[in-house]
Amino acid sequence: MKVVRSPKVMQRMALAWKRTGVKVGLVPTMGALHEGHLSLVRLARRRAQVVVMSVYVNPTQFGPKEDFARYPRPFAQDRALAQAAGVDVLFHPRTLYAEDASTVVEESVLSQGRCGASRPGHFRGVATVVTKLLLLALPDVAVFGQKDAQQCDVIERMVRDLNLPVKVVRAPVVRDRRGLALSSRNRYLSAEEYEQALALPQTLAAVKGMGPSAAVREARRRLEQAPGLRVDYVEAVNGRLCAAIFVGRTRLIDNVALTAGKRKAGRR
Ligand code: AMP
Repeated sequence: MKVVRSPKVMQRMALAWKRTGVKVGLVPTMGALHEGHLSLVRLARRRAQVVVMSVYVNPTQFGPKEDFARYPRPFAQDRALAQAAGVDVLFHPRTLYAEDASTVVEESVLSQGRCGASRPGHFRGVATVVTKLLLLALPDVAVFGQKDAQQCDVIERMVRDLNLPVKVVRAPVVRDRRGLALSSRNRYLSAEEYEQALALPQTLAAVKGMGPSAAVREARRRLEQAPGLRVDYVEAVNGRLCAAIFVGRTRLIDNVALTAGKRKAGRR
């Protein structure tokens, strides 16, 4: 596995792959890798000959009071995990922005509400950095996790609206053995907070057979009663129940498909 730190070198490599017809898969991450990230690598592997993973804690997607400074950056560990998962190129730039950078990419509809409402400017930062990563790695396929459902919506819309020549693939949510969706932020949780956080996946599992409005009502009721949690939002969007909560200072998100009224697909 090659570690590339320079954006210019990354783009030069990508252009060489393009010229020789090598199919490239990109997995953008902020590092502090876990099994969720590695599942994305495996999906990319199946669809591309070369897998690039970016590890970059993107400053423009954090609000001024958020956790940019303390976001975990265990690079040696990330490097070992990426290598073991079969990443070919680990792109780990020091920065992706000129000091006087003055250009952004903004998706203006799907970025509203939910995480966009509680984290103003977040999706502008995401759309901008993902565009830059796509232009640096020039992937045929880019893989994103459904855990960040709104992020997937925004990126798919942006790729469509800007005619970016990449196929976006959504990967299913990976959970730990007690059901909590894996997240780099889970490591902020104390043992007690971890137990409290389990109310989030438990609630989503409990309401997934309900219709959208009943699911929202019931999930909100359960989460508001759960000790130690503060509800940020609970919303049904595109047949999924999406929720964000705070446990102490840690903000966690999760979502689940609402299956009410749908027959189980009997495909084998
Ligand atoms: P992050 O490093 O948190 O920015 O996440 C990088 C990518 O990994 C994003 O596409 C996330 O949606 C995805 N991801 C993070 N956690 C999970 C998870 N538990 N299951 C599936 N994908 C995930």
